[in-house]
Amino acid sequence: MNVARRPLLFATAAVLLLAGACGRGKSEPRAPSRPARTPIERREQAACWYNLRSIEASKRSMAEEFRLKKGAKIDWYQLNDFLESADVCRCPAGGTYTLGPIGTPPSCSIHGRAPAQRR
Ligand SMILES: [Zn+2]
Repeated sequence: MNVARRPLLFATAAVLLLAGACGRGKSEPRAPSRPARTPIERREQAACWYNLRSIEASKRSMAEEFRLKKGAKIDWYQLNDFLESADVCRCPAGGTYTLGPIGTPPSCSIHGRAPAQRR
């Protein structure tokens, strides 16, 4: 193997890690959109919905801060500063999150949208 290429590989990996904190870097996806049945699946779904609610709250904070209107398109990179932690952008079951514009709740490719919470 050509040793001279290694630093470039490391640099590329570092950039991917930084840029891919959210949205990318998904793990093995499970079968899409079927109801949670086992206790583990229900836990994953609950954790996923918690993440989606947290992302939605971050989107609202961002919209307020920058006075964004409904329908304004944002990306993970912009939202990063408002996220509770990098963990909330990873579905525990390996689903892919779709951020959606301001005013539209984020969704998961496996668990869909978090249902509205009763208070
Ligand atoms: Zn999910």
